[in-house]
Amino acid sequence: MSGPRLLLLDGDGIGPEIVAATREVLAATSDKFGLGLAFETAVIGFDALRTQGATISEATIETARNADGIVLGPVSHNDYPPAAEGGLNPSGVLRKRLDLFANIRPAATRPFLPHPSSTGFDLITVRENTEGFYADRSMHAGPGEIMPDPDMALAIRKITRTACRRIAEAAFDLAATRPARHVTAVHKANVLRLSDGVFLEECRKLAEANPAIRYDEVLVDAMAAHLVRDASRYDVIVTTNMYGDILSDLAAELSGSLGLAASLNAGTDHAMAQAQHGSAPDIAGKGVANPASLIGSAAMLLDWLGQRRADGALATAATAIGKALDAGLSDTATRTPDLGGSATTAEMTQAMIAAL
Ligand code: ATP
Ligand code: MG
Repeated sequence: MSGPRLLLLDGDGIGPEIVAATREVLAATSDKFGLGLAFETAVIGFDALRTQGATISEATIETARNADGIVLGPVSHNDYPPAAEGGLNPSGVLRKRLDLFANIRPAATRPFLPHPSSTGFDLITVRENTEGFYADRSMHAGPGEIMPDPDMALAIRKITRTACRRIAEAAFDLAATRPARHVTAVHKANVLRLSDGVFLEECRKLAEANPAIRYDEVLVDAMAAHLVRDASRYDVIVTTNMYGDILSDLAAELSGSLGLAASLNAGTDHAMAQAQHGSAPDIAGKGVANPASLIGSAAMLLDWLGQRRADGALATAATAIGKALDAGLSDTATRTPDLGGSATTAEMTQAMIAAL
């Protein structure tokens, strides 16, 4: 079998810098472990808007569909024109069009890295990725938000039993592979009784079917406080789209920096590596972005591909990238400024490649 074909998408802001770093690490890993990775590229984001009239073209979506895996650089969250003018969020489009329903967002402290958390912790947020307040935003006339008159805007939150069930399944499957075997469902069912009610009902069904996994439920506001006070209490957090977005940023920053925050968008047939953070326009083009987030995400993608293709070399390579990340991060001389260091993106990347 030939090696996986990966589509690399630069994105906006620091995207080209951290995608280039990730490509270097992937290429080095491929050489070392004989993975035969092949790379394709396509243009998305502002560059695509300028040259193709849309931040992501249909052709690029098809290329993504045909690739074995995708590495998505961060895209701008704030500055795109309206969707009707081609300013779709490529990240949201790919998540929906390829049905990448589970956003897996790990956050863990490392013993050798400073972090603002009062305790060490190792948790994973499993965030529903296709609906909630984000439903159908990619369709111009879709129901995501409406403005019945100029003085009133309505946001509509779509929660389906099917999406809740499969995200709950993903969370329980993941928890079964981890030592703590613990799932916490995060919700606001005291206010959003119907929508978060459906979510909790589906989580409870999975809890009943998986008695070996400890299960509890926490309100999203309380969860924010609990994470700051003692994140070590949690293992796998399963939640709907927007709560997951917010809590995973909190968890990532508690672990040391948003620049460390890896994530995988996974569906049944496709997966996409994507850093948790955005395009960081404040540091773009300076060569100082922390590439660890996207490199860690790419390792998650290799791991996912390894399971799917039953290819042990991919899993081994994913683990090796994780260790190389730790090596690059443990040396204060190769830490980027977000971690209190003064290394450049390239210096940290070379340290990781050397550690491979
Ligand atoms: P966007 O609209 O694209 O989300 P933003 O202004 O919200 O842009 P984020 O990318 O979300 O910015 O980043 C939030 C903060 O975290 C910024 O100060 C940014 O510089 C920092 N940050 C994010 N990613 C990284 C990274 N990989 N390395 C270093 N700092 C980062
Ligand atoms: Mg942001």
